[in-house]
Amino acid sequence: MFPPFTLRYARLPERFFERFEPVPVREPHLIAFNRPLAETLGFDLAAFDAEEAAVWFSGNVVPRGSEPLAQAYAGHQFGGFVPRLGDGRAVLLGEVTDRDGRLRDIQLKGAGRTPFSRGGDGRSPLGPVLREYLVSEAMHAMGIPSTRALAAVTTGERVVRGIPEPGAILTRVAASHIRVGTFQYFAARGDIDGVRELADHVIERHYPELAKHEGGERYLGLLEAVQARQAALIAKWMGVGFIHGVMNTDNTSISGETIDFGPCAFMEQYDPQMVFSSIDEGGRYAYSNQPWIAQWNLARLAETLLPLIDDDTDRAIERATELLQRYPEQYEAEWLDVMRTKLGLERAQPGDKALVEALLSTMHRGRADFTLTFRRLADAAESREAEAALVALFERPEEIAGWLEDWRQRLAQDLWTEDERAQRMRLANPAFIPRNHRVQQALTAAMDENDFGPFESLLEIVTRPFDDQPGFEEYTRPAEPTERVFRTFCGT
Ligand code: AMP
Ligand code: MG
Repeated sequence: MFPPFTLRYARLPERFFERFEPVPVREPHLIAFNRPLAETLGFDLAAFDAEEAAVWFSGNVVPRGSEPLAQAYAGHQFGGFVPRLGDGRAVLLGEVTDRDGRLRDIQLKGAGRTPFSRGGDGRSPLGPVLREYLVSEAMHAMGIPSTRALAAVTTGERVVRGIPEPGAILTRVAASHIRVGTFQYFAARGDIDGVRELADHVIERHYPELAKHEGGERYLGLLEAVQARQAALIAKWMGVGFIHGVMNTDNTSISGETIDFGPCAFMEQYDPQMVFSSIDEGGRYAYSNQPWIAQWNLARLAETLLPLIDDDTDRAIERATELLQRYPEQYEAEWLDVMRTKLGLERAQPGDKALVEALLSTMHRGRADFTLTFRRLADAAESREAEAALVALFERPEEIAGWLEDWRQRLAQDLWTEDERAQRMRLANPAFIPRNHRVQQALTAAMDENDFGPFESLLEIVTRPFDDQPGFEEYTRPAEPTERVFRTFCGT
């Protein structure tokens, strides 16, 4: 069933990981399988059998050609450095080459206690597995770089998180699982050769265009490339109201994918200070902080690369700092691109930023739902009659009516037809996101009643985010006050 493994990471020096076989589980049962993804990865599905698949995706049997391992990494968690984290419950089976010739990691998350488990049990409860499945697939469907969900199994065992919950394992697919924290792991040990080998591996894998450069240019180029991808990624998050919740350096992927969906959530009423995570007491990872946290994380990556950038430390710091200081401008350009597309603006104009900011502050004061505002704006681009449904989202209708006049004046400067604009806007403004109360309902039904129906329906809906999907309007609706989710939990 599995395509051939490549084992690039497993061929890196032994100190990069711990060899580790998944710990078998009692009664694996397949609850979700991503057939289209499996096809692009080259899985042989001709004789697909759910019972057999459960055996593979639980790690009860290790596929031929895999040399399973737990990756070493460190990380800043909420600003505090932990020199040794590593995969405490995940095992990398190896890499496979997908239909487009790209290497993809296949990892089982929840596969048992590894040498990095510290006090943890190495397992995952079902809830967080389903949440990651839903949200990562929704992100991908919205065109946002993300790790993917290939399969989920229940284990037939209980995991205790305060109360006993059903255990589960997620099979995750990523461009790689290398994080800022992976670089920090070696840097913290003074292992410059380790940092260099990791950097060269990353360049070969994610940034091959840098391979032609030598010495300092090569590694400064790496920082620059990672920075560009982070700026683009966070701008896309901001464009859909996504709040990651735990932007620690160990949850910051070097490839620029969204990774580790813990207490993540989508904002409903627009509020830049929004925080959902129960463990984020200071609001460090609030919605509007995300761009600056990414920059902070990039600075931590830069520190690990300094010895490779220049033998002269002062010179290395100068060059890295120069680069990092360009981040705000880069991020803003990415963000403006995202927002311009959301507003249906064709060509960049000097007043665009002010127009976007005026809309956002009107949304904030009017307590408007982030997702619905933009989707209804797309309708308003098509017909003036549709404005009423947009205005109805706002507590201060006169303010948004005034903004709409400014917007229409601005649209007059572009050449797009109304149809063309509305179509483009609908491809940038999702109708369906995994609304927190829907996610919660899906998880609860699965955990409490072994009913995966709500999970399956929600998955189907959020993986077609830009289609109108008549009959499912109910899923576009924000939570009623009684349904509202105020806090999300890591649940690890
Ligand atoms: P996360 O919150 O998933 O990003 O994980 C942070 C760190 O804690 C990583 O090193 C994980 O491997 C580890 N970890 C999380 N949950 C568990 C668990 N149940 N057992 C062992 N280690 C865990
Ligand atoms: Mg993590």
